[in-house]
Amino acid sequence: MSSFTGETKLSPMAENVTMPMFYTNVLPPSMNLPNECFTESVDLTKKGIERNKFNQHTGDEANPFTCKCERVKSYNLGICADCEADLGPIRLAEEQRRAQDVKDEDAAFFGNSTTTTTEEKVDPVKERREKRKRATQSA
Ligand SMILES: [Zn+2]
Repeated sequence: MSSFTGETKLSPMAENVTMPMFYTNVLPPSMNLPNECFTESVDLTKKGIERNKFNQHTGDEANPFTCKCERVKSYNLGICADCEADLGPIRLAEEQRRAQDVKDEDAAFFGNSTTTTTEEKVDPVKERREKRKRATQSA
């Protein structure tokens, strides 16, 4: 059973029905989790900020730091997410290999599931192409 107070939704038949708590612009940290579980994430974030200052730069002045190009755009794996530099075919191939690893890992996790992602269900380009094909066939 969940021990999150205010979030537990009991059966409608239960006598003590806890109303769900709605958060607006504040999401308070959980009182049930020890802070130690965030230590590694915080350390890695601090190291990342120190390592790649380019994507931490704010303001109107030109960025004085050189981009380390650690992240790529999700829709174009060959372009840096921060400075938008073309990272070349070797990096693109490596990013595609890593993306495929993630997809394979997800597929293995959901291996026996019949659940498909929204992306798999509805491919707007494919849908439009099929619609056009049907329209031209019936005309
Ligand atoms: Zn970059």
